Amino acid sequence: MRAVGLHPDVVVVTSRFWQTTCTLVKSGAEAFVIDSPVLPDELELLPAVAEQAGFGVVGALVTHVDWDHLLARYAFPDAPQGMAESSAARLRNEPGAAQRELREFDEEHYVERPGPLTLPGPQMLPVPGHCGIGERELELHPTEGHTVDGMAVFVPWADVLVVGDYLSPVEIPWISESGSVSAYLATLDRLEPLVGRAAHVVPGHGSAIDGERALAILREDRAYLRALRERGADAELPLARRTGAQRKIHAENVTRASSRPSPGRE
Ligand SMILES: [Zn+2]
Repeated sequence: MRAVGLHPDVVVVTSRFWQTTCTLVKSGAEAFVIDSPVLPDELELLPAVAEQAGFGVVGALVTHVDWDHLLARYAFPDAPQGMAESSAARLRNEPGAAQRELREFDEEHYVERPGPLTLPGPQMLPVPGHCGIGERELELHPTEGHTVDGMAVFVPWADVLVVGDYLSPVEIPWISESGSVSAYLATLDRLEPLVGRAAHVVPGHGSAIDGERALAILREDRAYLRALRERGADAELPLARRTGAQRKIHAENVTRASSRPSPGRE
């Protein structure tokens, strides 16, 4: 697990698994943790990392409710969990899904946890909207397309944008079962001006990148998704993201892009 300070009020912790990111944000004595690392030892260490850096965690936010972003509970069992209404709705509509997928992952990789994942009742946040922290406010922006739910968190005083599973330097756009290409493209349009304001962008997977690099990835991702819609399997993957693992995601995307009623509606 790697911890990098982007600003005196923002520290990003990156998991050894999938490079899943977890962002600590503070204003004065109050800090939030956004998303989570994946492995039990990382979650066990996280409260000490936060404390040493002077982040008094009082709440958890999640960019979306894929299980690998939902594990902060193991590190901060008393922290309420804030999320977009779209995320709360997804948890309601897929009861037990996150727990089941976590169990499958743990079984496959021989990972042992201190106990099953419990999730508190979600605190619904206004998205688009704001969320108070200490004396300041975070900006919340809707992000859908990777999944049916989600939000990006902009930290205006630090110029840091935490996007969840978009703009990753290590992963191509992933249209998961509840996602859609058209919603993904609309999210990229919405993120573009925010990325323009950001000094640092924190993707859900991979290292934090500067705004310029994030903008380049945004354009690559847009080009890839348009090609996916037009040419399906023949769409070219972004140059730096063509590993076997990314080709597998691409194959999954092809089935999702073609299962839509008509290309004109994407
Ligand atoms: Zn993810």
